[in-house]
Amino acid sequence: MTDEVRGVGGEKPEPEARGEAEPMNWACTVCGYNVEGELPEKCPDCGASKEDFENVPIPGM
Ligand SMILES: [Zn+2]
Repeated sequence: MTDEVRGVGGEKPEPEARGEAEPMNWACTVCGYNVEGELPEKCPDCGASKEDFENVPIPGM
């Protein structure tokens, strides 16, 4: 058996692990093209760079 002591002292709570399993959507701010998942190198539709993409929440999740 382990005698675990937690929450005593100045222990900082760990920041939540950002889930890579979390679904993400990227929207091109130039043409409005939507990409699900990973941010592409550039917009397949208008060719805008990935810096022109905006992270948007997936509706209905
Ligand atoms: Zn675009």
